[in-house]
Amino acid sequence: MVFYSKNTELEFVDGVGFLRFPILKKLDFINHAFSTRIGGVSEGPYKSMNLNFKRGDDPDKVTENYRIFCRAAGFDFDSLISSSQDHNTFVRRVTKKDCGIGITRPNDIESVDSLITNEPGVTLVTHYADCTPIFLADPEKKVIGLAHAGWRGTVDKIGELTVEKMKSEFGCDPSDIIAVIGPAIGACCYEVDTPVYEKFACLTELKPAYFTKMLGHGKYLVDLKETNRRMLMDAGLLSINISISDVCTKCNSGLMYSHRASGGERGGLVAMLSIKN
Ligand SMILES: [Zn+2]
Repeated sequence: MVFYSKNTELEFVDGVGFLRFPILKKLDFINHAFSTRIGGVSEGPYKSMNLNFKRGDDPDKVTENYRIFCRAAGFDFDSLISSSQDHNTFVRRVTKKDCGIGITRPNDIESVDSLITNEPGVTLVTHYADCTPIFLADPEKKVIGLAHAGWRGTVDKIGELTVEKMKSEFGCDPSDIIAVIGPAIGACCYEVDTPVYEKFACLTELKPAYFTKMLGHGKYLVDLKETNRRMLMDAGLLSINISISDVCTKCNSGLMYSHRASGGERGGLVAMLSIKN
């Protein structure tokens, strides 16, 4: 396995591999990580750090993977709060009383694809296998947000909605917010048909020529990361405060689960983001 990136760092702790981003490492009030396949106990198509309970893997192994991952990446297992994630756009403010949701106790609410908090000791968790993670951190108000943007979430502006919620709940100023658009399927690999392309072509205010490309025969390439970057700019974030990971999950399917590369038989990755105690 060869890993190359200009802006995403692959770190190993106790045999567990995970990705981190320099622009977020500079913020000492948070901890963050994006998982890889490396260092877990799952087998077969889930090998080995599967962190998704919904893919048919042994739940005991998934729980063990969470424990291993948290130890290595510096998160408290008991502080995890998972999104339920079904490609919707509901943003939920979570607190300590929500800890364990989606991990050690059932999800109590559907359609949450984005989480925000201002509480230390709470770890936001969202799930991936090609979709786009959006990490948000406001160092002034000490607020964080983590959003899952598939193509539907992207078109429905989940990133912008998360910024709006950070503003309305905590008074965040978007120009203070640092953002990472994390590893996801890249413009190199994200081929779509006409109906999906048309949803992106409708985002005229964002100038779709910059994130769509016609391949012919009803096929198009879409750049999910660039679409989300433009949306965050629209929401008031500064260009200098947004970093786009250059890592494509499909091009790196030995390192990361990719829905497209695996044909759907796969485990799942997570993004984690917390405010330090
Ligand atoms: Zn690619």
